[in-house]
Amino acid sequence: MIPYGRQEITAADIAAVTAVLDSDFLTQGPAIPRFEQAIADYCGAAHGVAVNSATSALHIACLALDLGPGDWLWTTPNTFVASANCGRYCGAAVDFVDIDPDTYNLSPRALAAKLEVAAASGRLPKILVPIHFAGQPCDLEAIAALGQRYGFRIIEDASHAIGGRYRGEAIGNCRYSDITVFSFHPVKIITTGEGGLATTNDPALAERMARLRSHGITRDPAGMRRAAEGPWYYQQIELGFNYRITDIQAALGQSQLQRVDDYVARRQRLAARYDRGLADLPLRLPYRDPAHQSALHLYPIQVPGDRGRVFAALRAAGIGVNVHYIPVHTQPDYARFGFKHGDFPQAEAYYANAISLPLFPTMTEAEQDRVMAELAAALA
Ligand SMILES: *Cc1c(COP(=O)(O)O)cnc(C)c1O
Repeated sequence: MIPYGRQEITAADIAAVTAVLDSDFLTQGPAIPRFEQAIADYCGAAHGVAVNSATSALHIACLALDLGPGDWLWTTPNTFVASANCGRYCGAAVDFVDIDPDTYNLSPRALAAKLEVAAASGRLPKILVPIHFAGQPCDLEAIAALGQRYGFRIIEDASHAIGGRYRGEAIGNCRYSDITVFSFHPVKIITTGEGGLATTNDPALAERMARLRSHGITRDPAGMRRAAEGPWYYQQIELGFNYRITDIQAALGQSQLQRVDDYVARRQRLAARYDRGLADLPLRLPYRDPAHQSALHLYPIQVPGDRGRVFAALRAAGIGVNVHYIPVHTQPDYARFGFKHGDFPQAEAYYANAISLPLFPTMTEAEQDRVMAELAAALA
Protein backbone atom coordinates (compact mmCIF):
# COMPACT_ATOMS: atom_id res chain seq x y z
CA MET A 1 0.00 0.00 0.00
CA ILE A 2 1.30 3.46 -0.92
CA PRO A 3 0.17 5.56 2.10
CA TYR A 4 -1.38 9.02 1.74
CA GLY A 5 1.25 10.43 4.09
CA ARG A 6 4.40 9.16 5.70
CA GLN A 7 7.20 10.51 7.89
CA GLU A 8 10.88 10.36 7.05
CA ILE A 9 13.27 9.47 9.89
CA THR A 10 16.98 9.97 9.17
CA ALA A 11 20.14 8.87 10.96
CA ALA A 12 20.45 12.46 12.24
CA ASP A 13 16.95 12.21 13.81
CA ILE A 14 17.88 8.96 15.53
CA ALA A 15 21.14 10.45 16.82
CA ALA A 16 19.27 13.48 18.19
CA VAL A 17 16.78 11.23 20.01
CA THR A 18 19.40 8.86 21.42
CA ALA A 19 21.44 11.84 22.68
CA VAL A 20 18.43 12.82 24.81
CA LEU A 21 17.98 9.23 26.00
CA ASP A 22 21.59 9.34 27.23
CA SER A 23 21.09 12.71 28.94
CA ASP A 24 19.75 13.68 32.37
CA PHE A 25 16.35 14.86 31.17
CA LEU A 26 13.73 12.88 29.27
CA THR A 27 11.16 15.62 29.93
CA GLN A 28 11.16 19.18 31.34
CA GLY A 29 14.77 19.52 30.17
CA PRO A 30 16.66 21.84 27.83
CA ALA A 31 15.61 20.25 24.50
CA ILE A 32 12.10 21.71 24.85
CA PRO A 33 12.96 25.45 25.08
CA ARG A 34 15.55 24.90 22.32
CA PHE A 35 12.88 23.43 20.06
CA GLU A 36 10.41 26.19 20.93
CA GLN A 37 12.96 28.87 20.12
CA ALA A 38 13.92 27.14 16.86
CA ILE A 39 10.30 27.03 15.65
CA ALA A 40 9.63 30.60 16.77
CA ASP A 41 12.77 31.78 14.93
CA TYR A 42 11.83 29.81 11.82
CA CYS A 43 8.37 31.41 11.77
CA GLY A 44 9.45 34.89 12.83
CA ALA A 45 7.31 34.81 15.98
CA ALA A 46 8.42 35.99 19.41
CA HIS A 47 7.39 32.90 21.40
CA GLY A 48 6.72 29.18 20.97
CA VAL A 49 4.98 26.86 23.45
CA ALA A 50 5.39 23.15 22.68
CA VAL A 51 2.82 20.61 23.85
CA ASN A 52 1.85 16.97 23.31
CA SER A 53 -0.49 17.60 20.34
CA ALA A 54 -2.06 20.32 18.22
CA THR A 55 -5.34 19.44 19.90
CA SER A 56 -3.84 20.39 23.28
CA ALA A 57 -2.35 23.55 21.75
CA LEU A 58 -5.77 24.58 20.42
CA HIS A 59 -7.30 23.97 23.86
CA ILE A 60 -4.80 26.08 25.82
CA ALA A 61 -4.84 28.74 23.10
CA CYS A 62 -8.60 29.11 23.59
CA LEU A 63 -8.20 29.21 27.39
CA ALA A 64 -5.42 31.79 27.16
CA LEU A 65 -7.80 33.98 25.14
CA ASP A 66 -10.39 33.55 27.95
CA LEU A 67 -12.89 31.50 25.97
CA GLY A 68 -15.60 30.13 28.25
CA PRO A 69 -19.30 29.42 28.74
CA GLY A 70 -21.50 31.96 26.97
CA ASP A 71 -18.86 32.58 24.27
CA TRP A 72 -18.83 31.47 20.63
CA LEU A 73 -15.99 29.95 18.65
CA TRP A 74 -16.33 29.82 14.88
CA THR A 75 -14.33 27.67 12.51
CA THR A 76 -14.70 25.99 9.13
CA PRO A 77 -16.56 22.70 8.62
CA ASN A 78 -13.76 21.54 6.26
CA THR A 79 -11.31 20.60 8.98
CA PHE A 80 -10.40 17.93 11.48
CA VAL A 81 -12.79 17.82 14.47
CA ALA A 82 -10.08 19.17 16.82
CA SER A 83 -10.41 22.70 15.36
CA ALA A 84 -14.00 22.82 16.64
CA ASN A 85 -13.74 20.63 19.75
CA CYS A 86 -11.33 23.08 21.41
CA GLY A 87 -14.23 25.50 21.82
CA ARG A 88 -16.36 22.82 23.46
CA TYR A 89 -13.55 21.89 25.89
CA CYS A 90 -13.87 25.46 27.21
CA GLY A 91 -17.65 25.29 27.54
CA ALA A 92 -18.15 27.66 24.59
CA ALA A 93 -20.64 27.19 21.76
CA VAL A 94 -19.28 26.32 18.30
CA ASP A 95 -20.51 27.47 14.91
CA PHE A 96 -19.13 27.22 11.38
CA VAL A 97 -18.48 29.43 8.37
CA ASP A 98 -18.78 27.80 4.96
CA ILE A 99 -15.81 27.44 2.63
CA ASP A 100 -14.85 29.22 -0.55
CA PRO A 101 -15.60 26.74 -3.38
CA ASP A 102 -12.32 27.57 -5.14
CA THR A 103 -9.81 27.53 -2.26
CA TYR A 104 -11.65 25.13 0.12
CA ASN A 105 -10.61 27.51 2.92
CA LEU A 106 -12.97 29.47 5.16
CA SER A 107 -14.67 32.05 2.94
CA PRO A 108 -14.08 35.66 4.03
CA ARG A 109 -17.24 36.62 2.14
CA ALA A 110 -19.36 34.07 4.03
CA LEU A 111 -17.66 35.22 7.23
CA ALA A 112 -18.54 38.88 6.59
CA ALA A 113 -22.18 37.99 5.91
CA LYS A 114 -22.47 35.80 9.01
CA LEU A 115 -20.82 38.44 11.21
CA GLU A 116 -23.31 41.04 10.08
CA VAL A 117 -26.19 38.80 11.14
CA ALA A 118 -24.45 37.85 14.40
CA ALA A 119 -23.80 41.51 15.27
CA ALA A 120 -27.50 42.26 14.91
CA SER A 121 -28.42 39.45 17.33
CA GLY A 122 -25.54 40.07 19.74
CA ARG A 123 -23.98 36.65 19.13
CA LEU A 124 -20.58 37.58 17.74
CA PRO A 125 -17.77 35.04 18.12
CA LYS A 126 -14.98 35.60 20.63
CA ILE A 127 -12.57 33.42 18.65
CA LEU A 128 -12.27 32.45 14.99
CA VAL A 129 -10.16 29.41 14.03
CA PRO A 130 -9.32 29.53 10.31
CA ILE A 131 -7.45 26.55 8.83
CA HIS A 132 -4.76 26.63 6.15
CA PHE A 133 -6.39 23.67 4.44
CA ALA A 134 -3.97 21.30 2.68
CA GLY A 135 -1.24 23.83 3.52
CA GLN A 136 -2.72 26.56 1.32
CA PRO A 137 -2.73 29.82 3.32
CA CYS A 138 -6.18 31.24 3.89
CA ASP A 139 -6.98 34.91 3.29
CA LEU A 140 -5.42 36.17 6.51
CA GLU A 141 -5.57 39.87 5.69
CA ALA A 142 -9.30 39.83 4.96
CA ILE A 143 -10.00 37.72 8.05
CA ALA A 144 -7.88 39.96 10.28
CA ALA A 145 -9.67 43.08 8.95
CA LEU A 146 -13.00 41.52 9.98
CA GLY A 147 -11.46 40.64 13.35
CA GLN A 148 -10.58 44.30 13.87
CA ARG A 149 -14.06 45.41 12.88
CA TYR A 150 -16.02 42.88 14.97
CA GLY A 151 -13.57 42.38 17.83
CA PHE A 152 -12.88 38.65 17.65
CA ARG A 153 -9.52 36.98 18.28
CA ILE A 154 -7.85 34.67 15.75
CA ILE A 155 -6.15 31.29 16.26
CA GLU A 156 -4.68 29.98 12.99
CA ASP A 157 -4.91 26.20 12.79
CA ALA A 158 -1.72 25.68 10.79
CA SER A 159 -1.58 21.92 11.39
CA HIS A 160 -1.06 21.51 7.61
CA ALA A 161 1.05 24.54 7.03
CA ILE A 162 4.49 24.74 8.64
CA GLY A 163 6.80 25.77 5.78
CA GLY A 164 3.98 27.62 4.03
CA ARG A 165 4.21 31.33 3.23
CA TYR A 166 1.61 34.06 3.11
CA ARG A 167 2.81 36.85 0.78
CA GLY A 168 6.37 35.67 1.25
CA GLU A 169 6.20 35.56 5.06
CA ALA A 170 6.27 32.35 7.10
CA ILE A 171 3.00 30.97 8.38
CA GLY A 172 3.20 31.15 12.17
CA ASN A 173 4.56 34.70 12.46
CA CYS A 174 1.15 35.76 13.86
CA ARG A 175 1.13 39.04 11.94
CA TYR A 176 -2.62 38.57 11.40
CA SER A 177 -3.52 36.45 14.42
CA ASP A 178 -3.11 36.09 18.17
CA ILE A 179 -1.83 32.51 18.11
CA THR A 180 -0.84 29.96 15.45
CA VAL A 181 -0.99 26.21 16.12
CA PHE A 182 1.09 23.49 14.43
CA SER A 183 0.73 19.69 14.54
CA PHE A 184 3.66 17.29 14.46
CA HIS A 185 1.68 14.09 13.94
CA PRO A 186 3.62 11.76 11.58
CA VAL A 187 1.44 12.50 8.54
CA LYS A 188 2.02 16.26 8.87
CA ILE A 189 4.97 18.18 7.39
CA ILE A 190 7.47 17.47 10.21
CA THR A 191 6.95 15.13 13.15
CA THR A 192 7.65 14.55 16.84
CA GLY A 193 5.51 11.36 16.97
CA GLU A 194 2.68 13.13 18.74
CA GLY A 195 3.17 16.82 19.33
CA GLY A 196 2.08 20.37 18.70
CA LEU A 197 3.21 23.93 19.22
CA ALA A 198 1.63 27.37 19.57
CA THR A 199 3.42 30.53 18.41
CA THR A 200 2.48 34.03 19.51
CA ASN A 201 3.97 37.52 19.72
CA ASP A 202 2.22 38.26 23.02
CA PRO A 203 4.39 37.41 26.06
CA ALA A 204 1.34 37.21 28.35
CA LEU A 205 -0.35 34.65 26.09
CA ALA A 206 2.87 32.62 25.89
CA GLU A 207 3.26 32.62 29.66
CA ARG A 208 -0.36 31.62 30.22
CA MET A 209 -0.18 28.76 27.68
CA ALA A 210 3.07 27.51 29.25
CA ARG A 211 1.37 27.49 32.66
CA LEU A 212 -1.78 25.78 31.38
CA ARG A 213 0.24 22.99 29.77
CA SER A 214 1.67 22.09 33.18
CA HIS A 215 -1.22 22.00 35.71
CA GLY A 216 -1.62 25.77 35.92
CA ILE A 217 1.44 25.78 38.16
CA THR A 218 4.15 28.43 38.33
CA ARG A 219 7.56 28.22 40.01
CA ASP A 220 8.43 31.82 39.17
CA PRO A 221 8.08 34.04 42.30
CA ALA A 222 7.07 36.92 40.00
CA GLY A 223 4.02 34.93 38.87
CA MET A 224 2.89 33.86 42.34
CA ARG A 225 -0.19 35.18 44.13
CA ARG A 226 1.46 35.22 47.54
CA ALA A 227 5.06 35.18 48.75
CA ALA A 228 7.08 32.02 48.12
CA GLU A 229 7.53 30.01 51.32
CA GLY A 230 10.91 28.68 50.20
CA PRO A 231 12.94 27.49 47.25
CA TRP A 232 10.78 24.33 46.93
CA TYR A 233 7.65 26.41 46.52
CA TYR A 234 5.25 26.35 43.59
CA GLN A 235 1.73 27.63 43.22
CA GLN A 236 -1.25 26.49 41.23
CA ILE A 237 -2.68 29.71 39.83
CA GLU A 238 -5.48 28.17 37.76
CA LEU A 239 -6.68 24.76 36.63
CA GLY A 240 -4.27 23.41 34.02
CA PHE A 241 -3.35 20.09 32.46
CA ASN A 242 -0.42 17.84 31.77
CA TYR A 243 -0.03 18.65 28.06
CA ARG A 244 3.78 18.58 28.15
CA ILE A 245 5.87 17.35 25.25
CA THR A 246 8.99 15.30 26.12
CA ASP A 247 12.61 16.21 25.44
CA ILE A 248 12.79 13.06 23.31
CA GLN A 249 10.07 14.41 21.04
CA ALA A 250 11.44 17.96 21.05
CA ALA A 251 14.85 16.70 19.90
CA LEU A 252 13.21 14.77 17.08
CA GLY A 253 11.25 17.87 16.08
CA GLN A 254 14.32 20.09 16.12
CA SER A 255 16.18 17.63 13.90
CA GLN A 256 13.19 17.40 11.52
CA LEU A 257 12.92 21.20 11.39
CA GLN A 258 16.29 21.34 9.62
CA ARG A 259 14.58 19.70 6.63
CA VAL A 260 11.25 21.53 6.58
CA ASP A 261 12.08 23.68 3.53
CA ASP A 262 13.42 20.65 1.70
CA TYR A 263 10.24 18.72 2.53
CA VAL A 264 7.99 21.48 1.24
CA ALA A 265 10.10 21.78 -1.93
CA ARG A 266 9.82 18.03 -2.51
CA ARG A 267 6.05 18.18 -1.94
CA GLN A 268 5.85 21.01 -4.45
CA ARG A 269 7.83 19.09 -7.07
CA LEU A 270 5.58 16.05 -6.61
CA ALA A 271 2.43 18.20 -6.72
CA ALA A 272 3.61 19.87 -9.94
CA ARG A 273 4.20 16.39 -11.35
CA TYR A 274 0.63 15.39 -10.36
CA ASP A 275 -0.61 18.61 -12.00
CA ARG A 276 1.04 17.66 -15.31
CA GLY A 277 0.27 13.94 -15.15
CA LEU A 278 -3.42 14.38 -14.30
CA ALA A 279 -4.17 17.37 -16.55
CA ASP A 280 -6.03 15.30 -19.14
CA LEU A 281 -8.26 13.43 -16.68
CA PRO A 282 -11.76 14.71 -15.82
CA LEU A 283 -10.70 15.97 -12.39
CA ARG A 284 -10.52 19.21 -10.52
CA LEU A 285 -6.95 19.62 -9.25
CA PRO A 286 -6.13 21.48 -6.01
CA TYR A 287 -6.12 25.25 -5.96
CA ARG A 288 -2.88 27.13 -5.32
CA ASP A 289 -2.59 30.90 -5.23
CA PRO A 290 0.78 31.97 -6.69
CA ALA A 291 0.82 34.94 -4.29
CA HIS A 292 1.43 32.49 -1.44
CA GLN A 293 3.31 29.24 -0.87
CA SER A 294 1.34 26.16 0.08
CA ALA A 295 3.09 23.67 2.35
CA LEU A 296 1.18 21.04 0.33
CA HIS A 297 0.29 18.78 3.22
CA LEU A 298 -2.43 17.31 0.99
CA TYR A 299 -3.16 16.95 -2.71
CA PRO A 300 -6.99 16.93 -2.67
CA ILE A 301 -8.74 16.25 -5.98
CA GLN A 302 -12.41 16.44 -6.93
CA VAL A 303 -13.53 13.35 -8.85
CA PRO A 304 -16.64 13.33 -11.00
CA GLY A 305 -19.53 10.98 -10.28
CA ASP A 306 -19.31 8.21 -7.72
CA ARG A 307 -16.45 9.13 -5.38
CA GLY A 308 -17.01 5.97 -3.32
CA ARG A 309 -16.42 3.73 -6.33
CA VAL A 310 -13.20 5.52 -7.36
CA PHE A 311 -11.98 5.48 -3.76
CA ALA A 312 -12.68 1.73 -3.40
CA ALA A 313 -10.94 0.95 -6.71
CA LEU A 314 -7.83 2.86 -5.63
CA ARG A 315 -7.70 1.22 -2.20
CA ALA A 316 -8.15 -2.21 -3.85
CA ALA A 317 -5.18 -1.36 -6.09
CA GLY A 318 -2.99 -0.61 -3.05
CA ILE A 319 -3.24 3.18 -3.24
CA GLY A 320 -3.75 4.57 0.27
CA VAL A 321 -6.08 7.40 -0.66
CA ASN A 322 -7.98 9.27 2.04
CA VAL A 323 -10.76 11.87 2.33
CA HIS A 324 -10.30 15.31 3.93
CA TYR A 325 -12.68 16.27 5.46
CA ILE A 326 -16.04 14.95 6.52
CA PRO A 327 -17.71 18.29 7.38
CA VAL A 328 -17.49 18.60 11.16
CA HIS A 329 -21.09 19.79 11.56
CA THR A 330 -22.33 16.47 10.11
CA GLN A 331 -20.61 14.40 12.82
CA PRO A 332 -23.13 12.59 15.06
CA ASP A 333 -21.78 14.37 18.15
CA TYR A 334 -22.61 17.74 16.57
CA ALA A 335 -26.25 16.88 15.91
CA ARG A 336 -26.96 17.74 19.58
CA PHE A 337 -26.37 21.42 18.66
CA GLY A 338 -28.94 21.28 15.88
CA PHE A 339 -26.54 21.08 12.94
CA LYS A 340 -27.71 19.06 9.97
CA HIS A 341 -26.85 18.18 6.39
CA GLY A 342 -27.42 21.20 4.17
CA ASP A 343 -26.23 23.78 6.71
CA PHE A 344 -22.90 24.43 4.92
CA PRO A 345 -23.50 23.45 1.30
CA GLN A 346 -20.08 24.38 -0.12
CA ALA A 347 -18.20 22.23 2.40
CA GLU A 348 -20.66 19.38 1.83
CA ALA A 349 -20.41 19.62 -1.98
CA TYR A 350 -16.61 19.66 -1.76
CA TYR A 351 -16.60 16.63 0.56
CA ALA A 352 -18.94 14.64 -1.69
CA ASN A 353 -16.29 14.44 -4.44
CA ALA A 354 -13.05 14.73 -2.46
CA ILE A 355 -10.15 12.28 -2.53
CA SER A 356 -6.67 13.03 -1.16
CA LEU A 357 -3.95 11.37 -3.24
CA PRO A 358 -0.77 10.06 -1.59
CA LEU A 359 1.80 12.82 -1.11
CA PHE A 360 4.85 12.66 1.14
CA PRO A 361 8.46 13.80 0.75
CA THR A 362 10.01 10.36 0.24
CA MET A 363 7.45 9.36 -2.39
CA THR A 364 9.24 8.13 -5.53
CA GLU A 365 8.27 9.07 -9.08
CA ALA A 366 7.59 5.37 -9.72
CA GLU A 367 5.12 5.32 -6.82
CA GLN A 368 3.52 8.48 -8.11
CA ASP A 369 3.24 7.04 -11.63
CA ARG A 370 1.46 4.04 -10.15
CA VAL A 371 -1.02 6.29 -8.34
CA MET A 372 -1.75 8.20 -11.56
CA ALA A 373 -2.13 5.04 -13.64
CA GLU A 374 -4.53 3.47 -11.13
CA LEU A 375 -6.51 6.71 -10.93
CA ALA A 376 -6.82 6.85 -14.72
CA ALA A 377 -7.97 3.21 -14.75
CA ALA A 378 -10.50 3.85 -11.97
CA LEU A 379 -11.96 6.81 -13.87
CA ALA A 380 -12.07 5.03 -17.25
C1 LIG B 1 -3.96 16.95 12.53
C2 LIG B 1 -4.83 18.12 12.77
C3 LIG B 1 -5.19 18.54 14.05
C4 LIG B 1 -4.84 17.76 15.29
O1 LIG B 1 -3.49 17.55 15.41
P1 LIG B 1 -2.96 16.58 16.57
O2 LIG B 1 -1.51 16.97 16.69
O3 LIG B 1 -3.13 15.19 16.06
O4 LIG B 1 -3.72 16.84 17.80
C5 LIG B 1 -5.94 19.69 14.19
N1 LIG B 1 -6.36 20.39 13.12
C6 LIG B 1 -6.06 19.99 11.87
C7 LIG B 1 -6.54 20.83 10.73
C8 LIG B 1 -5.31 18.84 11.65
O5 LIG B 1 -5.05 18.44 10.40
